[in-house]
Amino acid sequence: MSQSYQLSTGALTQTLWHAQSGKCALCGRPMLRNRFEAPHAQVWAKSRATLDHIQPRSKGGADTVENLQLAHARCNKIKGNQI
Ligand SMILES: [Zn+2]
Repeated sequence: MSQSYQLSTGALTQTLWHAQSGKCALCGRPMLRNRFEAPHAQVWAKSRATLDHIQPRSKGGADTVENLQLAHARCNKIKGNQI
């Protein structure tokens, strides 16, 4: 019996960050968690950790920790364009 519950985005990100050791689920490279770690705003915009739905919401994917992973903003965008 599992009950899905909504975690706050901050708590979700923290849980996933630890589960993935701070690495992108799509390319396996380290992600930036804090914008102060980025040398430039542009680097931050591409390399920050974003929440990615494993099963897209458009296909019935839920907003639960089981269906979410962290990926670079850049990788997330590439994946999103490949449908
Ligand atoms: Zn990536």
